[in-house]
Amino acid sequence: MKVKVVEDECVGCGYCEANCPEVFEVDSCSHVKVDTVLDEYKDKVIEAMEGCPTGAIKEVESQENK
Ligand code: SF4
Repeated sequence: MKVKVVEDECVGCGYCEANCPEVFEVDSCSHVKVDTVLDEYKDKVIEAMEGCPTGAIKEVESQENK
């Protein structure tokens, strides 16, 4: 699983980092720190995606799945 944050949509609330600091880092807006999300963090990342107030976290389609 790969995710990205659309910077224009992020309001920097910090929810994603609070939920999964292993993957997200928030200063003025959120950044994804990893290339691929490890399986052990998937659930937390999905929770962050669902809980993000603006829906700024998107899953990136993996090339292997095409
Ligand atoms: S939860 Fe969404 S809006 Fe909040 S910091 Fe993370 S990406 Fe930005």
